[in-house]
Amino acid sequence: MERRNPLIHTATPSTVREVNRSIILNLIRRHQPISRAELSQRTGIFRSNISDIVDELVGQDLVVEKRGIAVGRGRVPTLLSLNGNSFRVLAVSVRPSETLVAAAGLTGKISKRVTFETPRNPREFVRKLLKTIAQFHEQHPGKASGLQEIGVGVPGLVKASAGQVLWIPALPEYSGFELAAEIEKRSGISTAADNDSNLAALAELWVDETADLSDFVVLVIGDVGVGAGIILNRELYRGHDTSFAAEFGHMTIDLAGAECSCGRRGCWELYVSDRATWQRYLPKSPTEFDPSRFQELLDLAHQGNQQALGALGETAKYLSVGISNIFLALNPEVIIVAGCIAKAWDLIQNTVVRSFSPPGLNVPIRTARPDLEQLYLRGAIRLALRKAFAKPKLGW
Ligand SMILES: [Zn+2]
Repeated sequence: MERRNPLIHTATPSTVREVNRSIILNLIRRHQPISRAELSQRTGIFRSNISDIVDELVGQDLVVEKRGIAVGRGRVPTLLSLNGNSFRVLAVSVRPSETLVAAAGLTGKISKRVTFETPRNPREFVRKLLKTIAQFHEQHPGKASGLQEIGVGVPGLVKASAGQVLWIPALPEYSGFELAAEIEKRSGISTAADNDSNLAALAELWVDETADLSDFVVLVIGDVGVGAGIILNRELYRGHDTSFAAEFGHMTIDLAGAECSCGRRGCWELYVSDRATWQRYLPKSPTEFDPSRFQELLDLAHQGNQQALGALGETAKYLSVGISNIFLALNPEVIIVAGCIAKAWDLIQNTVVRSFSPPGLNVPIRTARPDLEQLYLRGAIRLALRKAFAKPKLGW
């Protein structure tokens, strides 16, 4: 018998049903409460097929039915919504100093949130996380509290397919640690891990403003670095081996520039990070950059302080260089900027948009609506919910 290549995923009749199931579940999420008739109208799928799939979703407890209000003399429609108490997941956002943990259900709404100090040692981190999970179970005993998935966001490079940390600049002991596998082994709960900027991009997929977009980039301007996530055709682009992609912060923009943590010179992040802006503002400052003071600079700029405005203006020009390059390479529908500097967008927008824009092309840029902490957490929730909403993979 001829062996099938396991890398090729061909479509079968059940695949079609799985694709439609995923589309219907996503439509219910976005437009709830929604009737079967409206689902049929929006998708063009026959009512009977919609009903089959909806019945399955109700049977799996993922969707709940409620009687709607009769319009005129017509039948009272049954309206469908996601069951917010089903598919309980845990989102974990690892930050260099503090880790945020949140529980959520299928709707992504956070029901509980705690923080703990991030240990320098990854094994100690797993121990602390397990303690937190145990507390969650104690506070919500019974079957309903059972966690189905854990999603972890990490401030560094992660081989997403294996959930293995490759490099976290702020937490060097984590390098090489099989974070997802270790959490999964110790907790018994299926776990995935990914880079935090990738998760910020995933989170934007569920933001109303971005909900209809297919291709966009989220840029995270951080304290000392720049992260990014690329969404192509509503999927996160993770690179061919899932270990990195969208490392725009390490685009060389000055051959003779300063040395970067990546071992190269003149990387973009050295010119646009909050530290770079701070150093322009206080070039002779003898102390190390303290990220908690960056807001002072933004406040002074808003009050008209020329030194602060000058520093931000220079950063804006460098932002423009990089953002224009990204736009020319990918032609996304929008580039979404997140991070502290987004709070001064009113002051820098013109310079960012105009300085290096390709002539005749309008670079669509906006700032992220939720703050960064929320984006990371919501992204980790989305990662944990991926199996509930995922479409089957087809093709090579
Ligand atoms: Zn670099």
